[in-house]
Amino acid sequence: MDNLSNISVVKELLSRHGFTFSKALGQNFLVNPTVCPKIAEMGNAKPGFGVIEIGTGIGVLTNELCKRADKVVAIEIDERLKPVLEETLAEYDNFKLIISDVLKVDLHKLIKDEFEGLDVAVCANLPYYITSPIIMSLLESRLPIKSVTVMVQKEAGTRLLAKVGSRDMGAVTVAVNYFSEPRLLFNVSRGSFMPSPNVDSCVIRFDIRENTPSGVTDEQFFFKTVRAAFSQRRKTLCNSVSSAMGIDKPTVFKAIEECGLPQSCRPESLTMEQLISFCESLKKLI
Ligand code: SAM
Repeated sequence: MDNLSNISVVKELLSRHGFTFSKALGQNFLVNPTVCPKIAEMGNAKPGFGVIEIGTGIGVLTNELCKRADKVVAIEIDERLKPVLEETLAEYDNFKLIISDVLKVDLHKLIKDEFEGLDVAVCANLPYYITSPIIMSLLESRLPIKSVTVMVQKEAGTRLLAKVGSRDMGAVTVAVNYFSEPRLLFNVSRGSFMPSPNVDSCVIRFDIRENTPSGVTDEQFFFKTVRAAFSQRRKTLCNSVSSAMGIDKPTVFKAIEECGLPQSCRPESLTMEQLISFCESLKKLI
């Protein structure tokens, strides 16, 4: 069905299926006709590609993905949308629906079973309440994918798009830049959704790096230390890491000194290389 961003069509469809929006599941459906074709085109939905979509809603983005990619597998948590999607996506034989929480799906297995011989991309208008856990799980699990293209609320976008070494950065900034090259594709106003949320959104594409930055000998320790470093905004690296990891201050100071950083440095002033070097020094000292 092609007119899924037409508000009267959407209202009629939803009322016929007795569907009511769930705020808890972040159900704000796109009704701006220009947005989904752009996400699909810029998000690698094209011949030779299989696409995983997270959260279909009534299938407005799914429709654009199915038109362009060789195959689309969509994961939607809300079972009530199944009969709606059976109607709206009836014309496509390159579509498969999985009713599940995306965080519970084995995506490595899904890619192996469903996308043999294809490159794989992820596209989604993400439910805002689990934006970061979904992005982090996609990136950290080192899936064999080329890109993750997601719509997120502006505030989450600021952190995800911050440069490492800038004021806006947080632990999630380090993680996304470690695994990918994030870029802003375009902004989307709150009026593009039904119901309309209180904030604007943006679409970001994460191009997955073939090689992650060198020098990290223990990724688990690296990300644990990075999370500790950013656990208390605007505190020094030493104070944050010492209190969050329960390591005495002289030891943390020694690690800071060993990589040539000032004792009072703050985590948001460090480059990726400096963060890696600090984590490696600390690991050797504890
Ligand atoms: N793609 C549709 C659109 O653009 O109109 C819907 C986007 S809406 C912001 C988010 C969708 O994600 C909803 O359909 C919601 O039910 C679904 N969802 C929420 N939590 C989910 C989860 N943990 N796993 C899979 N889908 C989820």
